[in-house]
Amino acid sequence: MRRRFLAGNWKMHLTKNEALRLVDALAGPVAERPDVDVAVCPPFVYLDAVARRLEGRPLAVGAQNVSDKPEGAFTGEVSAGMLADIGCRYVIVGHSERRQFFGEDDAWVLRKAQAALAAGLTPIICLGETLAQRQAGETAQVIRRQFNGSVAELPADQAAQIVIAYEPVWAIGTGVVATAEQAEEVHADLRNLLAERYNPEVAQTVRILYGGSVKPDNAESLLTQPNVDGALVGGASLQATSFLGILAAVPKH
Ligand code: PEP
Repeated sequence: MRRRFLAGNWKMHLTKNEALRLVDALAGPVAERPDVDVAVCPPFVYLDAVARRLEGRPLAVGAQNVSDKPEGAFTGEVSAGMLADIGCRYVIVGHSERRQFFGEDDAWVLRKAQAALAAGLTPIICLGETLAQRQAGETAQVIRRQFNGSVAELPADQAAQIVIAYEPVWAIGTGVVATAEQAEEVHADLRNLLAERYNPEVAQTVRILYGGSVKPDNAESLLTQPNVDGALVGGASLQATSFLGILAAVPKH
């Protein structure tokens, strides 16, 4: 049985004090759901403070991005080893905002995932189609292409350690959420791709999160789908009440 996983992507929001207040408010209620893995992904500059605040508590910390290089003269970059060093456990790679605004492509996303794995971090590899691609009936091909480019080069033992986030671009930050059926269809396709490329064990191990306008009132229908193992939450992760409302919608096993 795959453990459910809820991750909050804070993007470029909050002050340091707000960040600490938010994790203080989350930590207690999260401890009451030991059946769910929960993480927050603050901006780089707050990671250390948040990780220290959460030491010994069951709320994990992830970064929103990472360099694909281990170290060196790469001004402005942050390595996976540095993230591991300050207590990060996860890192989001290939978020559509990075693909769209910072030119990241599948090959680059793969290298970031490899760098994360080499440092002992769990990469949350994001993929998803645009509205135009969905309307053109290309969703399955786009997902297959992104999977082949950013996941399938990993060997099976590494693939078994990743988390995949299906995030339709048209649903991110728009308030337009995928229906449970739309999400389940793509998640089932992704699990089939994992089984085809690797084996049934890897396919059954990898957690596949849905992301895109998840809120407390739409979370339950998504999170009760058989192939939806959790959520990557943007806007609704910035407030304790809404993030905890989503956590409350995670079915108990
Ligand atoms: C995201 O940024 O990964 C995301 C899913 O954002 P939102 O929940 O705001 O749509």
